[in-house]
Amino acid sequence: MSAIIEIDHLSKRYGSGTAALNGVSLKINEGEILALLGPNGAGKTTMISIICGLVTPTGGTVRVGGHDIRTDWRAARKLIGLVPQEIALEPFEKVIDCVRFTRGLYGAGPDEAYIEKLLRSLALWDKRDARTRELSGGMKRRVLIAKALSHRPKVLFLDEPTAGVDVALRREMWSVVRDLSADGVTIILTTHYLEEAEDMADRIGVINRGELLLVKPKAELMGEFGKKHLTIDLY
Ligand code: ATP
Repeated sequence: MSAIIEIDHLSKRYGSGTAALNGVSLKINEGEILALLGPNGAGKTTMISIICGLVTPTGGTVRVGGHDIRTDWRAARKLIGLVPQEIALEPFEKVIDCVRFTRGLYGAGPDEAYIEKLLRSLALWDKRDARTRELSGGMKRRVLIAKALSHRPKVLFLDEPTAGVDVALRREMWSVVRDLSADGVTIILTTHYLEEAEDMADRIGVINRGELLLVKPKAELMGEFGKKHLTIDLY
């Protein structure tokens, strides 16, 4: 298995506060679904934000597809898509224009055939001319996914995609993730829910207080700790 992301001794300290991330090392394999589990403030978003170039690390290195994010950021960012925790969309923009615009930001040229395929796969094609403010919460989340995939990244980060969403929408999100994974996209998602990690992931990483406590194949982890024990340990 080859690693598409290599994280080595990654650290982050915001201002003079305690370390949000403290020497995390991890390899993420091409094609896998990795769930990062941990309580509020564990460092999950910080780690994703560093890999996606939104936050500068205090120490350590990250390579994406072999490209060091500090020295070769342009090449690295082309391989990555991010679905952020917060839904932030331009309310009066049409769905299709959101996706075209984001594709442009990544430096990818026009490809209407791909955008149509993408919107169809996310059941958004019929809504392509709708303004984003007219959409339901579930559709808005799917628009965020379409934006993140607009430049055909190899890796998709989903930062707590199901936080505060109802059961039906959660199922819808996971079905989208499964389809993407079947298409060969590497998926890294953060969640507070062990059941979700258990359902979706090939491997589960547990982060707490900026430390990666463990990362193991799901089956191994479940066999070792059992669901109840792991939940109690974390929370
Ligand atoms: P949650 O599950 O609540 O989203 P998380 O695991 O994603 O949490 P982070 O958001 O990475 O955790 O936060 C890790 C630590 O870094 C927390 O103590 C948080 O308060 C701190 N932190 C995060 N962003 C900033 C910032 N911009 N400035 C200062 N401190 C920050």
